[in-house]
Amino acid sequence: MNEKQLKVGIIGGGAAGFFAAISCKQHHPYADVIILEKSSKILSKVKISGGGRCNVTNATYSISELSKNYPRGEKQLKKAFSQFMTTHTKEWFESRGVKLVTQKDKCIFPEAQDSQVIIDCLINEVNKFGITIKIHTHIEDIIAKEQGYELAIRGQKPIVFNKIILASGGQPKMSGLQWLQDLGHKIEPPVPSLFTFNIPKNPITELMGIVVNPVSVKIPGTKLEDDGPLLITHWGMSGPAILKLSAWGARVLKEKNYQFKILVNWLNQKNEEAVRVLIQTAISDLGGKMIKNTNPFDLPNRLWIFLLSKYDINEELRWNELGKKARNKMVQLLYIDEYEVSGKTTFKEEFVTCGGVSLSDVNIKTMESKICPGMYFSGELLDIDGITGGFNFQAAWTTGFIAGKLGNS
Ligand SMILES: Cc1cc2nc3c(=O)[nH]c(=O)nc-3n(C[C@H](O)[C@H](O)[C@H](O)COP(=O)(O)OP(=O)(O)OC[C@H]3O[C@@H](n4cnc5c(N)ncnc54)[C@H](O)[C@@H]3O)c2cc1C
Repeated sequence: MNEKQLKVGIIGGGAAGFFAAISCKQHHPYADVIILEKSSKILSKVKISGGGRCNVTNATYSISELSKNYPRGEKQLKKAFSQFMTTHTKEWFESRGVKLVTQKDKCIFPEAQDSQVIIDCLINEVNKFGITIKIHTHIEDIIAKEQGYELAIRGQKPIVFNKIILASGGQPKMSGLQWLQDLGHKIEPPVPSLFTFNIPKNPITELMGIVVNPVSVKIPGTKLEDDGPLLITHWGMSGPAILKLSAWGARVLKEKNYQFKILVNWLNQKNEEAVRVLIQTAISDLGGKMIKNTNPFDLPNRLWIFLLSKYDINEELRWNELGKKARNKMVQLLYIDEYEVSGKTTFKEEFVTCGGVSLSDVNIKTMESKICPGMYFSGELLDIDGITGGFNFQAAWTTGFIAGKLGNS
């Protein structure tokens, strides 16, 4: 087809839709590109992301390391990242005047600490390329036509496009993906990812605000285990160790109806034997000192006292008075400290959906549907999701960039 007649419709005015539209104009300068957004606001999630600061990507610069941060999509993203990854995102924004800073935890934010600079940059680019944005344009159906696809729009006349890019975001309910299933695509049922654990009525919640770093947490009876900082909250536990578990365990934990046990390994030790050695060293070094007054494991003091009391270890004891039973209890409290989780809480409103259009129906090198030629996918609509840390936006930039090429390498 003559490039000058190419009409491309992008469904969704979020991060993925904007990036797809810009990439489309870069690769197809003559195409007529239109972003169709159902609401009155474009880029609304970018605005509220990262607590209003927008964690735009992550300073993980090896493809194999980067892809490990995606519970869904790891294998396929390895291929996609060779076209556009974190280094490209950084360069893309910086070359357009957005200064970025990398935090100690590798999260990358705009130096201005304000998501609006990301929004302004994307809008500038869209304007520069003469891309049209149509708000209040709710696409309700997609009908295949000889020349491409007709989009049925709520309360408006349908529009026919030669190519379409779907960037309509994560859908919390299966019904939100029905129209894509009707076109023949396999849909992985949506379930929430990235949440914190509720541990109701447990006295540990009185220690809210305490952070222990690093710990390791596992869910017995599953293969789920992760490490990193753990934050005690007034409703249970949060922090990267918990959020990572929630993302990797999104489906399993949903099946358990969010009722399960967790075991906290407070010192992040490899095995029980290593914990026994640490306790033995404390006994030799601290001998006649009182357990409650010494805390050889660098745990926050309030937590140390709490754990001693939880496991009925007399805190008035001296280290050299610790009998075999008390030593075993100490191993338990340090290595497999158990809590009953009952329910979940959304992390800072950062709800991310696991599930969506199955990657088995998408050519990952082009993001084109294997079922409907000329239809491309990008962003959270796909069965791709990352852990917290800028990985979800990176997936949106990557898949949007590739989709925008419309199959051109
Ligand atoms: C509070 C919060 C904070 C977050 N913070 C971060 C962060 O700091 N870093 C990070 O990496 N990730 C973060 N995320 C996740 C990240 O925002 C998403 O993964 C990302 O926005 C997905 O982009 P998207 O373009 O695929 O979808 P969306 O941003 O959801 O955009 C989809 C757009 O499509 C429109 N749409 C839907 N259906 C239709 C239709 N039928 N017709 C027309 N338009 C339609 C929607 O109105 C929406 O504007 C956060 C999420 C939330 C909720």
